[in-house]
Amino acid sequence: MDKIIPLSIPNFEGNEKLYVDKALEEGWVSTGGAYINQLEESIAQFLKVPSAVACQSGTAGLHLAMIEAGVQPNDYVIVPTLTFIAAVNPVHYQFAEPIFMDCDDSLCLDAKKLKIFCEQECYIKEENLIYKKTERIIKAVVVVHVFGNMADMEAIMEIAKKYKLKVIEDATEALGTVYTTGEYKGKYAGTIGDFGVFSFNGNKIITTGGGGMIIASSEKDLKHIKYLSTQAKDDTLYYVHNEIGYNYRMTNLQAALGVAQMEELPEFIRRKNQNFELYKKYLEECKTVHLLPFRKEILSNKWFYSLVIEKDIVQKSLEYFITKLKEKGIMTRPIWGLIHEQLPYKNCITYQIEQALFYKQRILNIPCSTNITEEEIAYVSENIKNLCEGGRK
Ligand SMILES: *Cc1c(COP(=O)(O)O)cnc(C)c1O
Repeated sequence: MDKIIPLSIPNFEGNEKLYVDKALEEGWVSTGGAYINQLEESIAQFLKVPSAVACQSGTAGLHLAMIEAGVQPNDYVIVPTLTFIAAVNPVHYQFAEPIFMDCDDSLCLDAKKLKIFCEQECYIKEENLIYKKTERIIKAVVVVHVFGNMADMEAIMEIAKKYKLKVIEDATEALGTVYTTGEYKGKYAGTIGDFGVFSFNGNKIITTGGGGMIIASSEKDLKHIKYLSTQAKDDTLYYVHNEIGYNYRMTNLQAALGVAQMEELPEFIRRKNQNFELYKKYLEECKTVHLLPFRKEILSNKWFYSLVIEKDIVQKSLEYFITKLKEKGIMTRPIWGLIHEQLPYKNCITYQIEQALFYKQRILNIPCSTNITEEEIAYVSENIKNLCEGGRK
């Protein structure tokens, strides 16, 4: 194959050009315009929540959620170490500190360890969770639904309720992922905690170039988030401001793209699922690698596919796989560098991190764009199989 197969690229098969042109023609290019409201309504309707607030990026959305959750200087926020760093940085924007948790086999926050941590390392004083060693408040937990999977929300919500933690769902990778059974049957990723944040960056399941969306279990909180995102204007004529606001509102140009992308979301999810099954079929006989399954209780948007490289060939290292596949025009990527090992976070508190270290050495994300062809999936799979068997030939 002489073409390069990218890891994940956007797909503009629908009304994107039409709507962006319309926004341009009408002159509504900035933070006002009908497409912004339309996108908010379309997301709210899709997620079956009363309303949603559009913002400039997932990171901005997470920052606003953190503010509204009441995270203050010197507070702690529990975060996963296995995530994209944007889930953690907003903790620092609030001059608070992260406490790093491990992942479970879903790659999401380990609920069992979270529970033991709260039981053994903390106590409750005046409706606040206090970290024993420093006597400081732990205000919230950020739950990332990694690669479109769902964290164990049943367990996490129970723990959060008992230990007075606000729950911020980083659903930036999981738009459309939904419980199909259990207590939260019919509930979408992002709609279960106190706050849910989505991202429409270029590689997400839908894109607005850059952009995000926030939802909240309290309509009052969400209204305040919108106010903060638009420079906290209390009077739009005389410019009266009673709080510090942010310039975090999405633009109408971005939203025009988003409205078109939302029309295609169900089809994108269908293809992501179909292609996952195709990979599974083509890689079936390969004994040394497998695709990481998604949680059974959900219908996932299957945003990213994780190839797990098993023990006996891991010596060849991920780098070997990445380099060899690249020579064949196949783009792959290891998972993120763990956040507790990054320079700005090296001295932060960590709690029994083991699984994240294990998966970091073994997972490779493989091409998953919605417009990948079956022929390309077969080609990628064939090359993966060849590499696995290479040593034996
Ligand atoms: C993409 C992503 C973000 C940030 O979204 P942006 O829109 O790029 O700011 C946050 N957390 C995770 C886990 C992500 O994958």
